[in-house]
Amino acid sequence: MAIRVIEEKCNGCGLCVKSCPQMAIEVDNKLAIIDLDLCNYCNSCVSTCRFRAIVMEVDKQAEEDLNQYKGVWIFGEQFKGQIAPVVVELVSVGRQLADARGSELAVIAIGSNLEKAAAELAEYPIDKIYLYEAPELESYDGERYGRVLSDVIREKKPEVLLAGATTTGRSFMSRVAVQLYTGLTADCTGLAIGEEDSLLYQTRPAYGGNVMATILCPYTRPQMATVRHKVFPVSPKSSNGHKAEIVKLNAKPQLFGSRSQILEFIEQMESTVNIVDADVIVSGGRGIQDPANFAIIEELAKALGGAVGASRAAVDAGWIPYPHQVGQTGKTVCPKLYIACGISGAVQHLAGMSSADTIIAINKDPDAPIFQVANFGIVGDCLEVVPLLTKKIAAMRGH
Ligand SMILES: Cc1cc2nc3c(=O)[nH]c(=O)nc-3n(C[C@H](O)[C@H](O)[C@H](O)COP(=O)(O)OP(=O)(O)OC[C@H]3O[C@@H](n4cnc5c(N)ncnc54)[C@H](O)[C@@H]3O)c2cc1C
Repeated sequence: MAIRVIEEKCNGCGLCVKSCPQMAIEVDNKLAIIDLDLCNYCNSCVSTCRFRAIVMEVDKQAEEDLNQYKGVWIFGEQFKGQIAPVVVELVSVGRQLADARGSELAVIAIGSNLEKAAAELAEYPIDKIYLYEAPELESYDGERYGRVLSDVIREKKPEVLLAGATTTGRSFMSRVAVQLYTGLTADCTGLAIGEEDSLLYQTRPAYGGNVMATILCPYTRPQMATVRHKVFPVSPKSSNGHKAEIVKLNAKPQLFGSRSQILEFIEQMESTVNIVDADVIVSGGRGIQDPANFAIIEELAKALGGAVGASRAAVDAGWIPYPHQVGQTGKTVCPKLYIACGISGAVQHLAGMSSADTIIAINKDPDAPIFQVANFGIVGDCLEVVPLLTKKIAAMRGH
């Protein structure tokens, strides 16, 4: 990618200087000069310039090269042979995309001892399951996995590559996109094949969910997206006895180098169910005032058969471990019911939970921003309201 100023067209008006969020442009002698060390190619100066004096040149793969890419692939994320739930959600949308393109749907799993995971996946409407196994790949290592997947993609050339927007998917797919020099849309909530151009239309919420942006990757392949959990339904298993073909790929140990070494694996789990999988989440924020008060949040979550979430303020205060954090730098959740207790509703928190089906907010400040996204609001002290709710729900459920 390259950006340049056309000297004959630039009159040094300085509009581009104001538009640049990186402060990478200055005007010298009536000519805009871009500092390429600071520029992040965001395009805002190009669209701001009234004189079309700044141009961005995008590297494009040749048309005949693009046409070699066929098929829809899903990254088969697994942990100790257990397939991540988002993978079977991706199978449902992946199948639709592959059918729309008249191509194959494949899953690629990387790890060690993947037979059980492959046998489970084979029951779904997938055409092929690629297994890349080696003892060195037993535990996830972004550097190693990224190099392996990029190598397989260069050889097999899938047109589309999807992964769950999980911690692994988010950290690893960006590496693969950089290595393959292609685009990646993170956190998608909608995917479709364009009727006229056959491109992958990747839709994702932007600006805290206030805008839905649809993103295309027309010039490079594969078209890559990570997809939020619980946006697509779990795919049903094949009803006609179809079993996916399992293809074992040859491991290349020369790809396994890594700058990190796993010394020990300490599992840090949520005290109740995983918030990403939960249909009901009760979250506590700074408004619960004391770590001991997470007990009342946990009791309500238990009464509802749900999980415990938290704002970053509660996590940063050391009241609850990080795996519970919901939001921009925590987890993105999409439960049927989200109850926010003593959480103000900062935009970074909303980014992780605003797509919940129903949101209930309990806050003593009637002007708290959380009420703007809540379907139901209770203005009150959560230390009083939450135990009352728990009692009522437990009574209704006959506990
Ligand atoms: C780069 C970046 C990333 C971030 N990522 C995240 C993220 O992933 N997740 C996240 O949550 N935040 C994140 N934050 C922090 C975010 O901006 C807020 O600071 C944080 O969400 C505030 O947490 P809170 O709502 O618990 O606390 P506060 O904003 O302090 O709100 C506490 C609320 O509790 C109410 N309250 C007080 N006492 C009671 C009571 N007894 N009963 C009922 N209500 C009461 C108050 O009225 C107030 O609204 C991020 C910030 C940055 C800059």
